[in-house]
Amino acid sequence: MNDDNSRDLYDRALSVMPGGVNSAVRAAIEPYPFFVRKGDGGHVIDADGNRYVDWVMGLGPLLLGHDLPESVQAGIQQKASEGPMYGTPTEVEVDLAEFVVRHVPSVEKIRFVNSGTEATTSAVRLARGYTGRNKIVVMQGGYHGAQESTLVEGDAENPRPSSAGIPQSFSEHTLPVPFNDEEAMRDVFDEHGDDIAAVLTEPILANYGIVYPEEGYHEFLREITDEHDSLLIFDEVITGFRVGGLGCAQSEFGVTPDLTTFGKIIGGGFPVGAIGGRAEIIEHFAPSGDVFQAGTFSGHPVTMAAGLETLQFAAENDVYDHVDGLGEQLRSGLTEILADQAPSYTVTGTASMFKVIFTRDGPGKDSLEEQCGAGCRQNPTCPRYDYCPKNAADVKNAETERWRRVFWGKMKAQNVFLSQNQFESQFVSYGHTEADVEETLEAYKQAL
Ligand SMILES: *Cc1c(COP(=O)(O)O)cnc(C)c1O
Repeated sequence: MNDDNSRDLYDRALSVMPGGVNSAVRAAIEPYPFFVRKGDGGHVIDADGNRYVDWVMGLGPLLLGHDLPESVQAGIQQKASEGPMYGTPTEVEVDLAEFVVRHVPSVEKIRFVNSGTEATTSAVRLARGYTGRNKIVVMQGGYHGAQESTLVEGDAENPRPSSAGIPQSFSEHTLPVPFNDEEAMRDVFDEHGDDIAAVLTEPILANYGIVYPEEGYHEFLREITDEHDSLLIFDEVITGFRVGGLGCAQSEFGVTPDLTTFGKIIGGGFPVGAIGGRAEIIEHFAPSGDVFQAGTFSGHPVTMAAGLETLQFAAENDVYDHVDGLGEQLRSGLTEILADQAPSYTVTGTASMFKVIFTRDGPGKDSLEEQCGAGCRQNPTCPRYDYCPKNAADVKNAETERWRRVFWGKMKAQNVFLSQNQFESQFVSYGHTEADVEETLEAYKQAL
């Protein structure tokens, strides 16, 4: 496989951009990433003309794949050609807000912003402003964007910034606990309950694994936050309009958060974020309330049109049946391959998300016939239950270096593009086909 053009482009990029990239994870591939020239359905074609089955899909936003349906293209092109933006409201913002309010029961009002990072930053500020409290509880390994109050590591006793440039005093207000651990959460509320503004969590850890919640975990979070008058914030930047269809992951789990952050799919492939929730809370944003929030590009007409047309297309077509069906085929195919070739590894994911976690220990090969067939659901009767990752520490213990340094390259050599490390989810789009699934399963068979 020739990659001269990608190498030359990366050489140029290294001279003018830190690490040669504009977002850190893109440089995780060694010695250099490939540069994409264009997309095509469920595929991308790189700068040297190599074609890959693309399971990265922009790291989440591209529900429909690279070929946008005509209605989506028309919406985008019309807004772009009429003049990109104005600094005063447009009808399409109201249309998209109404669509989300209609489909996501916990959302009565919504504020659009420009990235998932901006959404979680504003949601944390809103929770603090609304409750008059300082502390936020987050999950270890949960990702909420590149922002000061969530780039934290350690534990609730000992939180520290996970990046240079963040004062230690900021991280004192963020308490990280293990996902799926009710006792750790109770301890934190016993200690700090009166000063906890919110629990902020992804419904499914999709940036670290993927890790599915244990039965009853989200109900527990709902109860403990209610008891202490704290808010429950679901970060649905990845799961929103992907898991649970248009009702999002919260409808799948039947739990109603106070606030939800959105991003990725809701902008149809353009930069976006949003904070939705109970009207009484969202009303605390300026100008109706005293929590300042603003943005030159917020509610950008091109983004709003792309998001609206994408979601409307999904509402009117078999998008979720298609992507969830292929997701199921991938996960059950992978489960069979692992039973044969790598019985300690775990298949994770749900709906149109999938991943193989390179877990080091597993049940004996003989008991695997009884295992969950299409991705770990933390089912206590599955023989894999005691070995499947429950939180970020479990995922971190996997063979993450093998994943990145050996396995990823073997898949790329077979023209399959997987996400750049063990931790990020992979995504099925409406552009993918059964042939893509078969080709990918065959490649896994060779690479594992
Ligand atoms: C991607 C992501 C973010 C950050 O969104 P950006 O648009 O990259 O700023 C926040 N939360 C979750 C759960 C994400 O997956």
